[in-house]
Amino acid sequence: MSFENVAIEKCPSYDYEVVKEALDKVLADIDALDFVKPGMRIGIKTNLVAAMAPDKSVTTHPVLLKRLCEKLLEMGASVVIGDSPGGLYTPMFLQNVYKTCGLETMVKELDPTGEKLKLNDDYSIHNGEFLDAVSIKTFIYTGWLDNVDAIINFSKLKTHAMMGMSCAVKNMFGTIPGATKPEYHMRFPEEHAFANIMVDLNEFFKPKLYVVDAVDGMEGNGPTAGEKRHIGAVLASAKPYALDMVCAELIGMGYADVATLIVANERGLGPKDFSEVTVVGSCPVSEIKVADFKRATIHQSITFEGKGIQGALTSAVLKLAYTTKPQVKVKECIGCRKCADTCPAKAITMVDGGKNKIPQIDRSKCIKCFCCQEFCPKGAMKVHYNLLGRFANRINHV
Ligand code: SF4
Ligand code: SF4
Repeated sequence: MSFENVAIEKCPSYDYEVVKEALDKVLADIDALDFVKPGMRIGIKTNLVAAMAPDKSVTTHPVLLKRLCEKLLEMGASVVIGDSPGGLYTPMFLQNVYKTCGLETMVKELDPTGEKLKLNDDYSIHNGEFLDAVSIKTFIYTGWLDNVDAIINFSKLKTHAMMGMSCAVKNMFGTIPGATKPEYHMRFPEEHAFANIMVDLNEFFKPKLYVVDAVDGMEGNGPTAGEKRHIGAVLASAKPYALDMVCAELIGMGYADVATLIVANERGLGPKDFSEVTVVGSCPVSEIKVADFKRATIHQSITFEGKGIQGALTSAVLKLAYTTKPQVKVKECIGCRKCADTCPAKAITMVDGGKNKIPQIDRSKCIKCFCCQEFCPKGAMKVHYNLLGRFANRINHV
């Protein structure tokens, strides 16, 4: 694979035959699947930001995913498709997302047995440590990504109110469990630091390949509240920052408009100008470019700090609202003490709860890793949100 190259091909619609021709070409342009070997387990980190139908242009289109899966299965690999949208990272929540986004039907059609192709059903949460990170040296992430041999990032080209653009690099924020995302927004409210999280995640997980659904994108107030806009392309590359530079050019944006491009360049990882990228494919970017693509009307950092008494009050309320914490539902607790035994911070003590012992959490020690929730066999340890946090968690940020 040529690591400098970004491939682009026209793809005028989501008709299967059209998609097949375009995706096959764009992958062949850079020998993108050369790394795939028989028996490999490939994880496709797609964009499933919200339970919305494919024609809303919010999530990666299932027909594109279908063609990629077909190719991987033909090469003897097995495939698992996953993401963590905003909201709870639980089977019930995700199954609704899979169904609404058109993936359940697609996967059943391709592999009715589920032996070689499936939607992620591993909801474990793992601890990550990345000493080279700029923003997040330790973090928690969705554990299914540890059980694959290689990751393919399949994103959707959209505007983004905070980052300017949501595409290949931003898509990796979906490796953070949904309930934890608002906490990262709270800890890193300024766009530069937040963009560094995206770059940290790309450098930590290092997907082997990035593919972009730019057939229909989203303009205006993306990533979920904008309008569908036809672009008519698919793109692929092993280099996420070069790929995002080409995607930005495609929708009339540049380096200065996209926070993740600025940060990647500062870290010596990405280009500063479209002219630095080698683009391959059957037609030049200028032939597909949508120069009047509408940008987000709100492009700003999410700030939790305010001026004066009113600002301080607003800041305090927002911080409170976005804070999540583990909380035991006493009625469902059987006193097994698995939460206490697995708590890495030793923040849980079992205390008398009437019919059995129940966990008591020392909030000053709790690091909010949510291992207690993960390991509770009865689902008695819940993620607790304040009222505004519950509402905010529905407004997704990928
Ligand atoms: S969330 Fe807090 S109480 Fe639960 S396991 Fe982690 S540190 Fe312990
Ligand atoms: S793991 Fe769950 S059921 Fe067991 S003690 Fe903790 S909260 Fe109760």
